This record gives sequence, structure tokens and C-alpha cells, in this order.
Amino acid sequence: MQAGKDKVVALHYTLSIDGEQVESSHDRGQELWVLLGHGQLIRGLETAIEGHGTGDTLSVDVAPADGYGEREEGQIQRLSKKYVPLADRLKPGMTTVLTLKDGGRRVATVHKVGMSTVDLDMNHPMAGKTLHFEVELGAVRDATAEELAHGHAHSPDAPAH
Ligand code: ZN
Repeated sequence: MQAGKDKVVALHYTLSIDGEQVESSHDRGQELWVLLGHGQLIRGLETAIEGHGTGDTLSVDVAPADGYGEREEGQIQRLSKKYVPLADRLKPGMTTVLTLKDGGRRVATVHKVGMSTVDLDMNHPMAGKTLHFEVELGAVRDATAEELAHGHAHSPDAPAH
């Protein structure tokens, strides 16, 4: 079976930026399960996987436009420390995860820490970066009706959520 829209794939991946490994599913010891065609993966990676099958290995370079976007100026926001988790432990360059009003989460990079405020760069930490992925494709199967309704894959260790 070939990977494509409305298929669920299991994959191992290693992400590197500028030759340095950033993260790898091997570190977690678990494959990542994704539903294709529903925005679970960045576009460049999803496009590369389409048409491939179990056992294929891919080496993929993703430009910022097909990854986390270009960096934008004017994305520095000043927040009171009370809205920033562990604000007093943060240093410039570190990332933190903000909880938004709608319950969503957003990663931001610390720009400056003041007395009672933190300046955060709201660009995604990987914005403006070319991403290099090494991918090994595992199982490929049709998505279930439940997965399609939820917009994400259910993995064997998290079958329903
Ligand atoms: Zn679900």
C-alpha cells in the first residue's frame, strides 16, 4: 500500500538542522503514527512521503516555506511573568510553551528576561530553517472512520483518544 491522503503511516525520523541532530523518534523508542492529508506533518515532509511504502527510506530536505515558514520581524511580545511557565528560570535562547486562550499551545523563544516581564519571540523556533529528515517508513494502512473524524492517527499504544 502506498502512503497518501487518508492513509495512516508509522515512521521513524531523525531531524537535523545545519548538520546537527535536533530530534529523533529513535530517542523515544517509538515510531510516530500520522494521518496523512490532515495537517499532522509539515507539508514538505508529507509531500516527500506520498507514494512510498513500507520499508522505504527517504532523505528529505525541506525549505522553510514547506516547513515552519520564514522568520518574521516584529514577532517579539512582552508578557508578564505570571503568564510564562517557570519564568524565573528562563534565559535568552531557551524555548517555552505558552497555553493560549483557546487552550492551544505555542512554542516561543525567550528574547529577554526583565524584572517582571519576559520578551518572547513568537516565531516558531524552526522558522527560517531548512530541515533535513531521514525517514524510515513502517506500516501503511487505511485510516479508520474514527481517525478521519479526529484528524489524527491512533497508534497501537494509544488506540483511542
Ligand atoms: Zn483520536
